[in-house]
Amino acid sequence: MSRSKIVVIGSSNTDMVVRTSHFPEKGETVLGGEFMMNPGGKGANQAVAAARMGGEVVFVCKIGKDVFGSQSAELFEKEGIDVSYVLVDEENHSGVALITVDANAENTIVVASGANAHLFPKDISSVESIFSPEGFVLLQLEIPVETVRYIAAAAKSKGGKVILNPAPACELPDEVFSGLYMLTPNEKEASMISGVNVQDLDSAKKAAEIIYKKGVEHVIVTMGAKGALVFDGLEYVFIEAQKVVAVDTTAAGDVFNGALVVALNEGKSIIEAAEFANKASAIAVTRLGAQASAPYRGEIMEEVS
Ligand code: ADP
Repeated sequence: MSRSKIVVIGSSNTDMVVRTSHFPEKGETVLGGEFMMNPGGKGANQAVAAARMGGEVVFVCKIGKDVFGSQSAELFEKEGIDVSYVLVDEENHSGVALITVDANAENTIVVASGANAHLFPKDISSVESIFSPEGFVLLQLEIPVETVRYIAAAAKSKGGKVILNPAPACELPDEVFSGLYMLTPNEKEASMISGVNVQDLDSAKKAAEIIYKKGVEHVIVTMGAKGALVFDGLEYVFIEAQKVVAVDTTAAGDVFNGALVVALNEGKSIIEAAEFANKASAIAVTRLGAQASAPYRGEIMEEVS
């Protein structure tokens, strides 16, 4: 059973959320909002989810030399994450997302990526020693694509297995996909990457096949409240979502990916790992928040063995 440390590389943000009765018009000030500050960023969310699932996690990210960055680093440590490779950018601020949520639960989000956008290949050369044969590396797309490509190649050259969660959805050069162990798009991302409008199982299968042909060994299309489709180039396995009352689906995909990589790292099969991730993310959607909603290992009642 492989038990290397799981390497998660990606973004760390501080989400500043203000509730408002209505969104302001241009130039308007709305008074009376309620304010919350939450840790976020897809990389950090996935690192925390994996740590809570029992994974030994090293998180590589870039934060600014400011209060947001140091608070994030403290939180990672509290989660038991190895922070030896949380890099500090002397020039750029920590990533921040300004979020407004109106009375209908609609939101607007503006992200100032700051240090996340300055995590470059040269920074990664100092952490390459943590890539190990058979070790898992989990990536998303809130850091520069050139860095994602560099990491994927570096990890693979050491025999590592790279999982890319291609979120948020964006145009990607085809070279990114070749040699990836796994790609885990949601429906929107799968649609963008494959050119197939993914909205049901049939279209998800078509998209997964196109993505597989780009050189990805395994594809898991997450399909929200429907579940997830696993494709390994030979067979399709659809895993139905758990029946739960969802209250906040923020970070469902992040919890799915964090749990998935932990189960794979423990030597579970891809189907078993996807079932485990499906359970973890179903718990997450019953709770408010991003990192806050990630469950702990013990909460997954019926463990796959
Ligand atoms: P993302 O958050 O990246 O958009 P999805 O919405 O596809 O990702 O959700 C990821 C996974 O979370 C799904 O494949 C499913 O396992 C689980 N999930 C999401 N929404 C629900 C829901 N309403 N009920 C149960 N499980 C859900």
